[in-house]
Amino acid sequence: MSNVTYAELDLTALQHNFSVVRNYAPNAKIMAVIKANAYGHGLCEFANALPNADGFAVARLNEAILLRKSGCKQRILVLAGFMSVVELENFFTYKLEAVVHTPEQITILQQASIRQTLTVWLKLDTGMHRLGFSAIDFLSAYQSLQQCPAVNSAMHLMTHLANADVKLDPTTLAQINLFNNITEALVGECSIANSAAILSVPTAISDWVRPGLMLYGISPFAEKVGADFGLKPVMSLYSKLIAIKALNAGDAVGYNGTWIAGKPTKLGIVAIGYGDGYPRHAPTGTPVLIRGQRVPIVGRISMDTLAVNLNDNILAKVGDQVTLWGHALPVEEIATISNTIPYTLVCGVTSRVNFNYLQ
Ligand SMILES: *Cc1c(COP(=O)(O)O)cnc(C)c1O
Repeated sequence: MSNVTYAELDLTALQHNFSVVRNYAPNAKIMAVIKANAYGHGLCEFANALPNADGFAVARLNEAILLRKSGCKQRILVLAGFMSVVELENFFTYKLEAVVHTPEQITILQQASIRQTLTVWLKLDTGMHRLGFSAIDFLSAYQSLQQCPAVNSAMHLMTHLANADVKLDPTTLAQINLFNNITEALVGECSIANSAAILSVPTAISDWVRPGLMLYGISPFAEKVGADFGLKPVMSLYSKLIAIKALNAGDAVGYNGTWIAGKPTKLGIVAIGYGDGYPRHAPTGTPVLIRGQRVPIVGRISMDTLAVNLNDNILAKVGDQVTLWGHALPVEEIATISNTIPYTLVCGVTSRVNFNYLQ
């Protein structure tokens, strides 16, 4: 029973997508973003499958330590940086690099007893208003770090774009211009572009690019799918039909009976639900694939099951494989219909789902 509901992770597709990044940014170094367990795909498996990545970025210190302990030899950047002297010591112990984005972090660095030097990615807030120094404070932060013995003199300068997934959004240009103006006179390798910028804003491509979503074969743009950019989906999510039943007209399906059969209906029950990470908000009509054919979900998604209308798939049998997303059923499409983004769907697959890696 253990493999009824499983995800297949195609590592050759990952490597293909990495080469697509190279084609879009042939002269840039690639910091592969594998935060949040590689967007739900498996942190260490993904790092191992990308020997040519120049570095890896994760959000949290614990992810970085896990990665280093697993034998990863490449550079590892922690996007949130450190919050205390104790945390900072781990950066030295595990040879990690840190985004520095607050004055508190600079104070911690100034108090550090120096053993080695830390490689710093100083972050400028160019308009996202999340992490980073304002344009007014950036230069003095840069100078303080330059004078700090615990900091490697080869500094990196970065920012993050808020709207790169929106075609021709003027904010993107303003953010890039501000970054270039502020960093023009400073020494340091620069990094701006996430997936959306790599694919659509050539002027955002600088010394380093930071692709996340596109590595997983997924489009960051609504209305598009990865294949539109030559990307291949890495994750496919599968389950099985575990029951088929005959409903009469008028029978209600699932919690609160939100869907009622209008005529005699062949109903299929699939062994996947929100307890596996399938979105509970996927509405009636959301497609799944059975025997190569799309059939619609009906009624509410339960924790362990969902129901599909098989009236148009008369050959479907108990035990048939069901594709929830992946090849021939883009996760982007499931995200749109469920009123979310593909990031949350792949991140949300839970630990009771078996993960099979295809080399
Ligand atoms: C998550 C993240 C990225 C990658 O973004 P994608 O849209 O997945 O390409 C890049 N940079 C930073 C700072 C991030 O937090």
